[in-house]
Order: sequence, then structure tokens, then C-alpha cells
Amino acid sequence: MSAPAPGTGPSADEEREILEAIERWAERELRPVARRFDHADEYPQEIVEQMKELGLFGATIHVEHGGLGLSASTYARLVMAISSVWMAPVGIFNSHLIMAACVQRHGTEAQKRQWLPRFASGELRGGIGLTEPNAGTDLQSIRTVARRDGAHYVVNGTKTWITNGVHGSCFGVLVKTDPEAQPRHRGMSMLVCEKGEGFRAAKKIRKLGYKSIDSAELVFEDYRCPVENLVGGVEGHGFKHAVGGLELGRINVAARGAGIASAALRDALRYAQERQTFGKPIAQHQAIQLKLADMATRLEASKLLIEQAARKYDTGERCDLEAGMAKLFASEAGVENSLEAMRIMGGYSYSTDFDVERYYRDAPLMCIGEGTNEMQRVIIARQLVERNPI
Ligand SMILES: Cc1cc2nc3c(=O)[nH]c(=O)nc-3n(C[C@H](O)[C@H](O)[C@H](O)COP(=O)(O)OP(=O)(O)OC[C@H]3O[C@@H](n4cnc5c(N)ncnc54)[C@H](O)[C@@H]3O)c2cc1C
Repeated sequence: MSAPAPGTGPSADEEREILEAIERWAERELRPVARRFDHADEYPQEIVEQMKELGLFGATIHVEHGGLGLSASTYARLVMAISSVWMAPVGIFNSHLIMAACVQRHGTEAQKRQWLPRFASGELRGGIGLTEPNAGTDLQSIRTVARRDGAHYVVNGTKTWITNGVHGSCFGVLVKTDPEAQPRHRGMSMLVCEKGEGFRAAKKIRKLGYKSIDSAELVFEDYRCPVENLVGGVEGHGFKHAVGGLELGRINVAARGAGIASAALRDALRYAQERQTFGKPIAQHQAIQLKLADMATRLEASKLLIEQAARKYDTGERCDLEAGMAKLFASEAGVENSLEAMRIMGGYSYSTDFDVERYYRDAPLMCIGEGTNEMQRVIIARQLVERNPI
């Protein structure tokens, strides 16, 4: 995702209005159905239609191409607001926007004109296909190959864990156009692939949480992709395109983690004032107070880290260190707060009649996506050394 081009984004007042509309929508439309869809692991088609109307599929696409052109700061707040009600639907437009961002940042003018308005309207929806059965963190070891054959690339390989894999129809797919290249990233390219003969979703992956949203294996068998769909029109830049959106991707995952952390605090705080033991609300027991205090502090710290990273991103400053810290801290805050909310709510937290068990199942994903938290720490440490040479 890239910041709106100067002068093309909405004003601060317009951004605030959009955010408020989304917050009202999440309360009115998402909250009442979240538990039902999550437990049934059913794709929320009616919610997708509403998201189209709200413009969410074009949230960060520039206005000139039919999107809302939101800043990173506002987009992060929007993601947090939705995630504090139900995190999973965010994946439907966020993964789609990562694909769109790749075209917006790196595509040719013709590609931008061809794809972005259709992405922004939600007419064409999809996601980003990087991971393979043998390659996640080590993306340069992917095996999906695209061989040039006249006006087409012939693509063969398998992608896995791809968000929107079943219900999406168009994906940014990382391939090897030169499998022998050294260093390996020089042989990698990004193709925009629309489903059709030779490209199908092979299976929906069953998951602990992040239900209702389809994560799927995508199979390419002699799939013919037009050469015009090579992002940027030049081979060998796919790895750069794939990792180029990571800063904003990390801010967004952080916002999802903070959203869950906030939901867990909200539910726990309410419950702690209602539930009585030994003649008083449990919120008056010091053991519970310590948990509530830590949960609230983690949430506020997450928000500040996210805001700092997003602000730097919006002003065009370097923010890789800040985005990494926000992602690391806020995703762990989501995990810790959901577990603490379970302890505070005792036996009821373990019941599927409440939402806390969902937060607890959804939160760990944020520690894996957009670079695992182990890798995040490694990257942060490397950047500390790079920025502070002796
Ligand atoms: C629900 C869900 C949705 C997803 N959606 C998408 C999607 O839409 N598109 C997509 O392309 N992918 C998607 N993914 C895949 C996700 O990006 C990968 O799972 C992630 O990149 C980690 O890769 P891996 O699972 O192969 O783990 P591995 O890379 O095998 O890592 C395993 C462990 O080793 C550690 N590790 C690896 N290398 C190092 C190192 N050099 N130093 C220290 N530790 C290391 C990791 O931190 C981790 O703890 C999704 C995954 C999930 C669970």
C-alpha cells in the first residue's frame, strides 16, 4: 500500500467522517453476526456486499483510480475499529489491497488503468500469493515457475495459505521467471493472475481461528498468463514488489492486533464490574486490577507505536524499524490481552456463548503474518545496528 499522492487524498474532516461511518457500520452490522459466522465458518457474503458499498475494497487506492485514497494513519484506525468488533473480515479487503498496492506502486500506467478501478469497486477481488508449501519466511526458495511462451507465461506450481483463495478471482502471484538466477531474487517476478483454465483453488484450509475467511491452496497447471500482466513490465523485480509493501502491511497487522487487544479489554472490564465474588465486584480484587492495568497499558502503548509508524509512513519518512516494533508489540498485546480476558472471565470465557474465545483463537495469527515475530525481532535488531554504527 502506498500513501495517497499529494493533493489526491480526502481532507482530514472527510477521513474522520469515513472512520466514524465505518465504526457505526461495524457496531450495527458486524457485531450482531460475528459469532454466528465465525462458529459456522461461513463466508460472510452479505458483509462483503456492504464492504463494497462502503468503498473498503478501494480504501488505500488513489482517488484518481476510484479509491478512497486514505492515509496510512486513517487506514490503521479503520482496521483497528473493525478488528475490535471482529478481526476476520479485515482480511477480505486487506489482502486484496496488498495486491492492489503492488500494482499501484510498481505497475505500468496501463496496468494501473486496467486493474485499479476494478479492484477499487470490488468488482474484481483477490489477494496476494507468496507462500508455498516449502517456502514462507524464505520466499526466495519458492518453486512456482513462469516460463515465457510467446505472448504468455506458462505458470506451474502451488501456493498455500492464500487469503481469499476460494472466493477471490484475481491474485498477485510471486513466481520464478528465471529459476537459475543468482542471487535468487533476480529471477523472481510478480504476475497478476485471474482464475481460469489451469488456475484453481484446490482446497480450503481448516484453521484454529480467523474463521469465515477462506485460506486456500492455489494450484497452477500450465496456466497461461498474458505477458501484459507482469507487474511493471520488467522481469526480476518480483521479490522487491513482494517485500516493498511490508512496512504498511506490518502497520495493518499491528492495527488488527491492537483491535483484538482492545476488544479483550472492553469485555473483561465490563465483566469485572458485573461479576461478584466474596461480596464485591471482581474489579475490586487486586489480582484482577493488576491484569486490567497491564491490559490497558499494552493497548495504549500499541496504539502509540502504530500511530508513530503510520505518521512517519504518511510523511514519507523511513519507518521500517517503527513498523516492525508496532507489529511485534501490538500482535503480542492481542495474544496477551485475549488470554488475560479469559482468566478474568473465568469459566464463561471458555464458552462459545461469549466472544473472548474467538479473540483467543484469532490473535496468534498476527504473530505469524507479515513476517513472524521471531523474524521481526531479528529485523529490528539489524536496523538498530545499521542506524547506530560505532
Ligand atoms: C491464516 C493465514 C493466512 C495467510 N495468508 C497468506 C496470504 O494471503 N498470502 C501469502 O502469501 N501467505 C499467507 N500466509 C502465510 C504466512 O505469510 C506464512 O505462514 C508466514 O510467512 C510464515 O511462513 P511459514 O509458515 O512457512 O513458516 P517458516 O518460514 O517455515 O517458519 C517457521 C518458524 O521458523 C522461524 N524462522 C524462519 N526463518 C528464520 C530465520 N532466518 N531466523 C529465525 N527464525 C526463523 C519462523 O519465525 C517460525 O517461527 C498466511 C498464513 C496464515 C496462517
